[in-house]
Amino acid sequence: MIKTALFSNVDTQQLNICGELIRSGELVAFPTETVYGLGANALDSMAVEKIFKVKNRPADNPLIAHISDPSMLSGLVKDFPKELEELTDRFWPGALTLVLPRTEKVPDIVSAGLPTVAVRCPSHPIANGLIRAAGVPIVAPSANLSGRPSPTTFDHCVEDLFGKIAAIIDGGKSEIGVESTVLLPLGGRRLKLLRPGGITIEMLESQGFQVEMDPAILSPVKEGQKVSSPGMLHRHYAPKAPMTIVAGKAEAVVRAIQAKEEEGVWVLAFEEYLPLFKNALSFGSEKDSKSQANALFDALRKFDSLPCKAIFAMEPSQEGEGLAVYNRLLRAASFQIIPAERL
Ligand code: AMP
Ligand code: MG
Repeated sequence: MIKTALFSNVDTQQLNICGELIRSGELVAFPTETVYGLGANALDSMAVEKIFKVKNRPADNPLIAHISDPSMLSGLVKDFPKELEELTDRFWPGALTLVLPRTEKVPDIVSAGLPTVAVRCPSHPIANGLIRAAGVPIVAPSANLSGRPSPTTFDHCVEDLFGKIAAIIDGGKSEIGVESTVLLPLGGRRLKLLRPGGITIEMLESQGFQVEMDPAILSPVKEGQKVSSPGMLHRHYAPKAPMTIVAGKAEAVVRAIQAKEEEGVWVLAFEEYLPLFKNALSFGSEKDSKSQANALFDALRKFDSLPCKAIFAMEPSQEGEGLAVYNRLLRAASFQIIPAERL
C-alpha cells in the first residue's frame, strides 16, 4: 500500500505537484473528456511498467500517448501525413486517437513492441494542464483495473487505485463517458476504425475521409487471430454477473425480459422503460446515444454492488455514438446477444 494524494479543485500549484510526480516516475490518475486516465511519463519505461503492474494489464495491449499540443507529435511519430492535419485541425483537442509509425524515443513497452504509437491530444483542461506541467507526453490508459468498466468519476478511480498510485485528481464526471475513437491511417484519405468513440464515422466522413471498420469492433476475436488493435482481444468492461443483450424492438425486448424476471435478475434499461421492470438500472435515453455513452460504465460498475445473479441489457442503436456504446456493451456481455423471440 502506498500513500495516495487526493486532489480536488486543482489549481496551478497542485498541477505542478502532479506534473513533478509524473516527471519523477510516479503514476497519477486524472480526468479527461472521455474517461479518467492513469498517467505516466511516456518516455520513462520504468514508469510505464508500473501502469501494467498496477492495472494488471496484459503486456500485449499498447498505450495511448497524450500530448498537450500537436507540436509534441514530432518527438513521438516519424512523419505526419499532410491529409491528417485536416483531421487534427478539426478534432484536436478531442476524443480522437491516431496510430502512426513511432520514433526510437518511444519505449517498446508503450507500443507493446509494435512499430506504431497511438497519440491523442485531450481537450479536458486538467488533462491538458497536467501534460504541460509535466513537460512530457503522458501515456494514460483508462484508470481502472484491467477487465473492469472504465472510470467516469473520481470515486471509480479511488475504488480501483487508492493505495496503489501516487495521486488521483478529481475532475467531476467525464463529459463523453466512453474512450476515444482510435484510427489507423491507411494512406491518402483512407482510415481504419480500430475502436469507435465520441468522434463518429459520420463526423469523419463529413470531413471527406473514407472509413473502414475493423471486424473486431462487432465480432469476437479468436485466440491466435491477428488483430490491428490488441485491446480488442481482451475481456473488458464486464460486471461480475453474466450479462445478455436482448436484441429486437423495444416492446418485444421488454416482454421477453419481463418473462425472465425473478430474484437476482437485473435489467440494464433505457430510462423510458425503467418503471416496467422490478430491478433495473438506467443507461440513458433510448433515442440519445450520447446519454447512453455517458451512463454506461457507471451502471456496469453499480451492478457489482447489487445482489445480482444475471443481467439483461436492452439493445442500443449502432448509429453515431451508439456504435461506441454497442461495442463496449458487446464486450461487457462477452458477445452474448439473443433476439427477444428466442430468450
Ligand atoms: P485504453 O488505454 O484502455 O484506452 O486502450 C488503448 C487502446 O488503444 C487499446 O484498444 C489499444 O489496442 C489501442 N492502441 C494503442 N496503441 C496502439 C497501436 N500502436 N496500434 C493499434 N492499437 C493501439
Ligand atoms: Mg481501458
